[in-house]
Amino acid sequence: MNYKSTRGSAAVSASAAIVKGLAPDGGLYVPELFPTLGDAKSFIGLSYKERAKKVLSAFLRDFTPEEVEHCVNAAYTAEKFGSEEIAPLCRINESTHILELWHGPTCAFKDMALQILPHLLTVSMRKNGIEDEVAILVATSGDTGKAALEGFRDVDGTRVLVFFPRDGVSNIQRKQMVTQEGNNVGVAAVEGNFDDAQNGVKAIFTDAEYGAFLHENGIVLSSANSINWGRLVPQIVYYVSAWVSMTEKGELLEGEHFNVVVPTGNFGNILAAYYAKKMGVPIARLICASNANDVLTEFIHTGVYNRKRDFHLTISPSMDILISSNLERFLYDISDENAEKVTAWMESLKTEGGYRVDSETLVKMQDILWAGSCDDQATLSTIRETYEKYGYLADTHTAVALRVYEDYVKKTGDATKTVVASTASPYKFGQSVLGAIADSVPADDFEILSAIERKSGLPVPSALGELRNKPDRFSMTCPPDKMRDAVNTLLGI
Ligand SMILES: *Cc1c(COP(=O)(O)O)cnc(C)c1O
Repeated sequence: MNYKSTRGSAAVSASAAIVKGLAPDGGLYVPELFPTLGDAKSFIGLSYKERAKKVLSAFLRDFTPEEVEHCVNAAYTAEKFGSEEIAPLCRINESTHILELWHGPTCAFKDMALQILPHLLTVSMRKNGIEDEVAILVATSGDTGKAALEGFRDVDGTRVLVFFPRDGVSNIQRKQMVTQEGNNVGVAAVEGNFDDAQNGVKAIFTDAEYGAFLHENGIVLSSANSINWGRLVPQIVYYVSAWVSMTEKGELLEGEHFNVVVPTGNFGNILAAYYAKKMGVPIARLICASNANDVLTEFIHTGVYNRKRDFHLTISPSMDILISSNLERFLYDISDENAEKVTAWMESLKTEGGYRVDSETLVKMQDILWAGSCDDQATLSTIRETYEKYGYLADTHTAVALRVYEDYVKKTGDATKTVVASTASPYKFGQSVLGAIADSVPADDFEILSAIERKSGLPVPSALGELRNKPDRFSMTCPPDKMRDAVNTLLGI
């Protein structure tokens, strides 16, 4: 089984799709065929790792079983994720099960994919005859950079370099990055905002002369972008695993369907749930939850995608996105793989700032997806109410999902059991979370961690608590037009 582009160009192997990231025609790679899973029985009793091996093997057809095993075993360890469960479920009431995707080293769900991507990538490079060392270059507004640093640290054949906007990340986020351990990591602050950092990285990627210079030094650049198939496929696993675990515990009867609610930004996480449904996981409704940046809500309600709107900075920053890249894969699928239509929509998004899908596509989309959004005020009140009612402390992103789910139940009366994807530890966005449940919030980030611990009884994740006493390793600062020099310095060339 190979991977073809959503815009029509020729298919390539799984490993080539992972090495390339983006297809040469600008489209995204999707499998030519979706494997089917069979019933839950064949997964029952298996550990998360074993479940992951079965799902990944079905997609990565040019990987040997040993290669898949190597990748999975290196990524999903109890040491990194706190227990062998990896993605535990927590039932808060009759119908609501929270799928916690944040037990990895950086306390947010990006770890589910970025812990395994470096291994998928290095295996894929070897299989495609690339002998250069791969240098991952990341511009980050906070979370992705840290997750990439943790994922790639000390992985043979890789380097990872992260640029963050000097004045655009929280103190804890900065500390997480500049104290990063590992022998193949580098971090620099850019004197500018996130766009400056991102534009600088893009300029480096598109500079052919510089690429040739790096190649002479045995280095090839790559990104750990969320459109890479190697980031998407590991996300399918936890929806399969949630289904199996609920069946195991008797929470689901054989053949019983459940809903899934996902706090959505780039549409990667919810797309993985859709793919799990295609493979046979009995998912009824997929509920797409957005914050005040409600471009997807409007799209799912009307069929009109319009990015020309105000951008809101919210307390759920990882969902502050106006272009949801992975939506392209979903549209390709529901338009019966019509590459021509998809290309026209994406072209229009680029040139006109939006597009309208035909009514047939709209009906199909609405058959699968339900969408809602909520603002910061509603997010905070949901954190407080969920805590008071169920003793469960949700982060700001998870709270958006919980609120939209509540609206869904009010509007539809649907009592189907539901899995809510929880994408960050409440400690990760502690200032907002504490503000929702306490009368006052200390100014110091580490005081906030202690205050949440005292109030909730949940232990501070050690990865965050330990930061306080960790020495800084990186102090480099550079202007946006000197990022190439910074790359050379960090690579030692
Ligand atoms: C990245 C992220 C999201 C959005 O996920 P997508 O796959 O981009 O839709 C939601 N919550 C958190 C905490 C994230 O880091």
